Amino acid sequence: MAKCSVCEGEMRKVKGCSNHIYLLNDGTRVNPIKVGAPEDPYFSDERERCGDCNAAIGETHHIGCDVEICRLCGGQFAYCDCDYSDRIVVIQNK
Ligand SMILES: [Zn+2]
Ligand SMILES: [Zn+2]
Ligand SMILES: [Zn+2]
Repeated sequence: MAKCSVCEGEMRKVKGCSNHIYLLNDGTRVNPIKVGAPEDPYFSDERERCGDCNAAIGETHHIGCDVEICRLCGGQFAYCDCDYSDRIVVIQNK
């Protein structure tokens, strides 16, 4: 099973990803769209977890989740080519 590069958790085992934000081209920081949020069109009410990365409702999709909406282009991660390698900022809140 794939390991998330941000929280280093096994996607199927941890509840959701660590807190992180994305840096846009102009330096704006945006929050990821959470599982089950109104902006999360690929999430079905019948499920309690993301069908791809297994994050729970209200948690953040893991990086690389196929169904997360890309914050750079507004498309679907699985089909866009945005480079996230230096755009992910992990927030330590513990
Ligand atoms: Zn993660
Ligand atoms: Zn997901
Ligand atoms: Zn994109």
